Amino acid sequence: MKLVKRIANLGYGSRKQVAAMFREGRVTDADGEVLYADDQVEHDAVRIDEEPLDPPAGLVLMLHKPIGYTCSTKDPGRVVYDLLPPRYRLRAPLLSTVGRLDRDTSGLLLMTDDGGLLHRIVSPKANLAKVYEAALASDLRGDEAAVFGSGTLMLESEKEPLAPAGFSAVDARHARVTLIEGRYHQVRRMFAAVGNHVDTLHRSRIGGLTLDGLAPGEWRVLGPADIEQLF
Ligand code: URA
Repeated sequence: MKLVKRIANLGYGSRKQVAAMFREGRVTDADGEVLYADDQVEHDAVRIDEEPLDPPAGLVLMLHKPIGYTCSTKDPGRVVYDLLPPRYRLRAPLLSTVGRLDRDTSGLLLMTDDGGLLHRIVSPKANLAKVYEAALASDLRGDEAAVFGSGTLMLESEKEPLAPAGFSAVDARHARVTLIEGRYHQVRRMFAAVGNHVDTLHRSRIGGLTLDGLAPGEWRVLGPADIEQLF
């Protein structure tokens, strides 16, 4: 495939826009030699504005999602794609969120264009722990660990009980919940089922991955060593 098409497919712009980038001499090899639209060059050798090209497929990134952003491409309000370079929104196949965090939940969000990897992460069969920190409106009752860990908790309008979840109290109004599944508003609904209300919710960990110093709104591309932390 011609270089111009490969670069356009990565979301850097339409074919016309990418062709203009070639004419402006912004597409070079690693030594700064200008490349041409129909060159056949190895992916890793290409630079745009002196930056290496995004990976062609299998891109995985981690975002510290702030409160107030939706995990959607369509929402008329602020969406997580607004926090990334515009080309990530234009990539084919779409760089989608791995599961979702509610608009009012902050924390670790993975995004990928690798459908197989996405499935492996979200499937309860993967048994991958997702850890949430909840601040609560009322004091804990004391039976949350037993209820959440029972494997019999049935949430309204669900057909199957929840898989057993981990629970630990941090103090009277703060708790850590570990899930291996991701149902709609799950943590908030679990606390509602025990008569409480979640004031703030933050996902701090997926498998062995943590936000590791990323501030709200910051993101980074994950490498193979990061992905290994997930499995
Ligand atoms: N549980 C929730 O209630 N919300 C989230 O965003 C994630 C888990």
